[in-house]
Amino acid sequence: MSNKGFRIEHRYLELPDSFYTRVKPTPLKGAKIACFNHELAEKMGFHVSNEADWAGIGGGTELLEGMDPVAMKYTGHQFGMYNPELGDGRGLLLWETVGPDGRRWDWHLKGAGMTPYSRFGDGRAVLRSTIREYLCSEAMNGLGIPTTRALFMVSARDPVRRESIETAAALVRVAQSHIRFGHFEFAAHHEGPEAVKTLLEHVIALHFPHLIKLAEEERYARWFEEVVERTARLIADWQAVGFCHGVMNSDNMSIVGDTFDYGPFAFLDDFDAGYICNHTDQGGRYAYNRQPQVGFANCQYLANALLPVMDENTIRNSLQRYESAYNERFLQNMRDKLGLAQEDEGDLGLIMDTFSMLNEQHTDYTAFFRALSNLYAQGHAPVRDLFVNREIADEWLTRYEERLEKETRAHDEREYGMRQVNPKYILRNYLAQKVILEAQNGDFEPMKELIKVLERPYDEQPDFEKYAKLPPDWGKHLNISCSS
Ligand code: AMP
Ligand code: MG
Repeated sequence: MSNKGFRIEHRYLELPDSFYTRVKPTPLKGAKIACFNHELAEKMGFHVSNEADWAGIGGGTELLEGMDPVAMKYTGHQFGMYNPELGDGRGLLLWETVGPDGRRWDWHLKGAGMTPYSRFGDGRAVLRSTIREYLCSEAMNGLGIPTTRALFMVSARDPVRRESIETAAALVRVAQSHIRFGHFEFAAHHEGPEAVKTLLEHVIALHFPHLIKLAEEERYARWFEEVVERTARLIADWQAVGFCHGVMNSDNMSIVGDTFDYGPFAFLDDFDAGYICNHTDQGGRYAYNRQPQVGFANCQYLANALLPVMDENTIRNSLQRYESAYNERFLQNMRDKLGLAQEDEGDLGLIMDTFSMLNEQHTDYTAFFRALSNLYAQGHAPVRDLFVNREIADEWLTRYEERLEKETRAHDEREYGMRQVNPKYILRNYLAQKVILEAQNGDFEPMKELIKVLERPYDEQPDFEKYAKLPPDWGKHLNISCSS
């Protein structure tokens, strides 16, 4: 490593001992850098001239001076059931760094081996799921949606048993914070009010510094309200791009409002409101159209954990912000996607009817909005062609164009704006699947190319048109295993 331009801190260690256990990574065999995010490294304050220098850290054979790896303790609600046994079961917080811009980064090595919280797991992550997390965090970032990031990943030779034998990999995931709603549940349900307060003050000091000066009651109230609002807005953003998280347990909810813990996620291809991307979620608890409610339920779990230190009415009032924050953001997102700058009382109806139509017609969600963003530039055909039933498309287009007459912006101006919010390129499951197969054969170049494309999802990239194609039939029904 050269030009170390960051400050090392490890503020998580200031929390009481019960919040973590020191654990050394268990080495992987022959770890090699598979992909390195140089742009992100620069942003974090360092420059990498030789990627290979970092393989030992990814492979758990080397630590930099100042790294003091810990497994974090948290609990949480998984599929509605409280689980007191959770914690980092295969990931370690290495240290925290503060970049030249003052931004704080937690470094978390995912796939680092067993910890006291591994339960039945082996502490490892497989290549397939590590690539999926890498791709999706960078795709989300490209879309402008808050997310944890991928700094680099290694692949190794160690065999890992899942449904079949796979090989191990590890990811250095970075984020402003790795503290989850579940940390608060642990503090409240196992440690007591003092621990909740300590954790709360820690989170405010590091991540909500604008609240520090407020008096305690006000500080806690504003903080919780902000967490609720960030969560609501995050999920409104997911809905707008057709993202399904798949495992919205409260231990996978970031306290700073990032998209967190990528498992069996999916972006919708054909629109299906009830889409379930996680095959172990038989009841569809975390289906696409349930995500907004689940986000609220998770805020309620967090609220319960705050009861020992906050007034119940205050908590209730803050919780109420969820619905309005969600609705406002979602409506704005959809107005932007449809290019509606003027307000009209019929707009909510139009939005709802649009979703009903897409749901009935199983229209490709991303392609539909992108084609709509070029309606005047390229005509009706690209939109109509997405429908089996062209009459339905024509009826809808007539209604939409009538509505557009109320707009005052020029067509090209509106469509330019729409192309800034309706991505051309998203991480379709089949695209991820293709680069995973190549990587499993030792070639990471296709993965790198896909990342480059997904970094600029709103731009036309003529050389990469193939990534904007509709999925082949085999690609629409991939069985994405939850075992990662
Ligand atoms: P997830 O569903 O990935 O959010 O994981 C839920 C819990 O299981 C977390 O506490 C993880 O650390 C733990 N976990 C997941 N996979 C493994 C694994 N292979 N080995 C140990 N713990 C794991
Ligand atoms: Mg998790």
